Amino acid sequence: MQAEKDRVVRFHYWLRPLPEPDALLESSAGGEPVTVLLGHGALLPALEQALLGRSAGERFSVDVEAGRAYGPHRPELVQRVSRKHFKDPGRLRAGQQALVATRDGPRPVTVLKVGMSVVDVDLNHPLAGRDLRFEIELIEVRAATPEELEHGHAHGPGGHRHD
Ligand code: ZN
Repeated sequence: MQAEKDRVVRFHYWLRPLPEPDALLESSAGGEPVTVLLGHGALLPALEQALLGRSAGERFSVDVEAGRAYGPHRPELVQRVSRKHFKDPGRLRAGQQALVATRDGPRPVTVLKVGMSVVDVDLNHPLAGRDLRFEIELIEVRAATPEELEHGHAHGPGGHRHD
């Protein structure tokens, strides 16, 4: 069975930065494969496109430039915020991900610099501005259940969980 819209794929991925494809940013290997229903916006369009027509057992890689991945790095999203907007400001360290309270709810940021009363943060997606290579090992392609099609996402290990 080939991967196509309204089918469920399970795959492992290795995400590598370009132009240093020997480095590893993140991977699903060692855990549950990612499980998604194709055609419902769960993946980057460029990654989904590369999966179409593939079968279980195939290994391939797809290069996605920043503009088609997580977008450009926008300098105006590097901001200085008061420490009071953090839940546990005493533990903030440069380089870590943290949640900052905003009017629209908590928002993930990358901490750049921690000062006495303010913190410099980057609200860009951590992968913004980066060209990426996805290496994919396709584990399984299966038909979606009627319930999965109704919900618009895959169920089961590695898929959507209803808690
Ligand atoms: Zn569901």
